[in-house]
Amino acid sequence: GPDYVRAIAPYQGGKPISEVAREFGLDESRIVKLASNENPLGMPESAKQAMIAAMAETGRYPDANGFELKQAITEKYGVPQEWITLGNGSNDILELAAHAFVQPGHEVVYAQYSFAVYALATQAVGGKAVVVPAKDYGHDLAAMRAAITPDTRLVFLANPNNPTGTFLPAADIDAFLKSVPQHVVVVLDEAYNEYLAAEQQYDSIQWVRQYPNLLVSRTMSKAYGLAGLRVGFGIAQPGITDLLNRIRQPFNVNSLAQAAAVAALNDKEFLSRSAKLNADGYQQLTRAFEAMGLEYVPSFGNFVLVKVGNEDGAGARINLALLKRGIIVRPVGNYGLPQWLRVSIGLPEENEAFLAALRQVMAEA
Ligand code: PMP
Repeated sequence: GPDYVRAIAPYQGGKPISEVAREFGLDESRIVKLASNENPLGMPESAKQAMIAAMAETGRYPDANGFELKQAITEKYGVPQEWITLGNGSNDILELAAHAFVQPGHEVVYAQYSFAVYALATQAVGGKAVVVPAKDYGHDLAAMRAAITPDTRLVFLANPNNPTGTFLPAADIDAFLKSVPQHVVVVLDEAYNEYLAAEQQYDSIQWVRQYPNLLVSRTMSKAYGLAGLRVGFGIAQPGITDLLNRIRQPFNVNSLAQAAAVAALNDKEFLSRSAKLNADGYQQLTRAFEAMGLEYVPSFGNFVLVKVGNEDGAGARINLALLKRGIIVRPVGNYGLPQWLRVSIGLPEENEAFLAALRQVMAEA
């Protein structure tokens, strides 16, 4: 196989509860997992009911074009079906973009401390990663613009960003999109968009109308609570969408996932409950960090990056001590942040269990 495939470092996800229980001899029911930015409410009841109803038809193939799901997206976002690509999670959309636009040797621009899949998708197609140093743990858009060359094919922007939680104001993104040459496709990854407060909300669909080289990526894994079902979607003009749909696996979103996603998209109550729970949990965690004198990066997502020590082993050390107490968070040494941990915002009692364990292990250190 190609050298660039052999050189890929595998994706490191959050440890599963069952694995931690076995490894540390703990009772599964007492483990708190705040490691994968999942919705602590789980999946919406409306989606569960839709899945149960769809079970009867799972002997058939799913709708290869996802008509009902695209219709729900059309109604919610006001774009035609021809502008929508469905994905097996939004990771699928990110990978499809790399496959569609990047050949070996082409450059892909993304920020330091940005989502791990950008590197994976780039390397999988033999692209050359151009990693632009972060500014205040977020994207430095001027530097990213300056990094674009005639060989650049793709730019990944995450807003809010994972794992740092930073946010780019709409005016900055708009100015960036205006400045990017047409031979470059910009992927605007909005996995955490639904957590933005009213004052940060912006209309990225309007940019899709304006910029034929923009692909907006969304997921059902976070605020919609369907991470295990793997549903995401891309919105772009047909010039991009046609290509993505040609290389997409025909049945990349299964029928249960399609049914659940339609229900979740229409469940406004669940979405607002999720956002409210997240905003409250953010206050709970960050107030405690302040009381403990811990530095954190202000976050616009459903997670917070917190600094747990000044030495490079700190993140791994505190992570291990938390695991022994049944608390799973995410070490981010692989992101070049070995002094930090990323904690997903959970239910109030989960946040409290994490904070209690953190206080203990920090006192021991
Ligand atoms: N983009 C970002 C910025 C993310 O943090 C994640 C989830 N970790 C994804 C995309 C992918 O999520 P999914 O494949 O579940 O849609």
